[in-house]
Amino acid sequence: MPDEPEDTEAGRDLPDEVLRELCAHLDELEAQSSTEVRVATELLIDTGRRPDEINTLPFNCLEQDPDGSDVLVYDNHKAYRLGRRLPIGAETAAVIRRQQQRVRERFPTTAPARLRLLPRPKSNPEGTKPLVDVSGHHRAWVKSLPDILVPVVAADADTRVTRLVPFDKKRIFPYAYRHCYAQRHADAGVPVDVLKELMDHRLVSTTMGYYRVGDERRREAVDRVTALQFDRHGDRVWRTAKSLLDSEHVRRAIGEVAVPYGVCREPTNVAAGGHACPLRFRCLGCEHFSTDVSYLPDLQAHLADLLRSRERLMSAFEADDWARTQAMPSEEEIRRIRRLIERVQTDLDDLTPEDRAQIEQAVTVVRRSRTVMLGMPRVRQPLPDVRPARTPT
Ligand code: SF4
Repeated sequence: MPDEPEDTEAGRDLPDEVLRELCAHLDELEAQSSTEVRVATELLIDTGRRPDEINTLPFNCLEQDPDGSDVLVYDNHKAYRLGRRLPIGAETAAVIRRQQQRVRERFPTTAPARLRLLPRPKSNPEGTKPLVDVSGHHRAWVKSLPDILVPVVAADADTRVTRLVPFDKKRIFPYAYRHCYAQRHADAGVPVDVLKELMDHRLVSTTMGYYRVGDERRREAVDRVTALQFDRHGDRVWRTAKSLLDSEHVRRAIGEVAVPYGVCREPTNVAAGGHACPLRFRCLGCEHFSTDVSYLPDLQAHLADLLRSRERLMSAFEADDWARTQAMPSEEEIRRIRRLIERVQTDLDDLTPEDRAQIEQAVTVVRRSRTVMLGMPRVRQPLPDVRPARTPT
């Protein structure tokens, strides 16, 4: 019997702001339905498994790899592959452990091998029957939530008019969390063969769909943040074109290298992959440096770092004078970075709330895939919302 077709719906994930809002309202879902439905929804979000794979989890679905890290053991009913092992984070494992505790207390006489992790709340005296379907409760919960506004660019991309519109709640259903899981891992740079395993796809072409969607979004996001680009003096680099041409995207990929709070276009340094800076990374004083709005958090962190270093060096830090003098951040450097931050912030403040929301969304997409080369091993940015934050049950 041939396998059923795999998921081919890349692009049906939920925007970050929608997922964050849903996670912030999980308490209401629990109050309207049951703890089991809430836990099922949390596990759908965290693990990206299909709804029936979560509903039918056995009580003993949590195991450890030899190195002690947690693994969810589940059955992929769709492809008839049983006992699949999915690595999960400590917080997700804690959700499962708390649920196991509740089930144990509720059904103390049933053998664990017969119990379900998410027992049906009614007509289930021994806890051996699984949840049937969470979609009804889920739909009612989503319907009861206030509108979630998301920025949308008007069809005429040249004018780039952005509006905040309510997200279509019909797109929020339990299976969408599987697409969210796949997309956030693809966007975070998880290698395609690893994501194929995580999704338990048979064909790599199925998994590749999520990377194509990610590339298109990243391209749009780069266009948007490039519109708010600055040179080292904090002067806006105005662009006449509204979006980058194909050739510009390619040139940006090969003609620049990322530095901690912007990009470097110095040819020798670019050719050396960021290992040959003649100025020892004093980028704020270098004409080959530029930055954009997506680096604002890095600029602010760098300013805080410079101020901290100056404080420490001015206190009783043991060092020779020449070393102290060279390590001391200069007043000019601090003044420059302050001015750059002010300019970027002023331009952001000038945007309409809709445009600002659009830029913030673009910044999230761009930052998620960014790596920095500084003559050192690659440093990946923290991965935002790989597990969206929420209050524990
Ligand atoms: S100082 Fe920065 S921008 Fe200038 S060459 Fe060195 S790395 Fe590139």
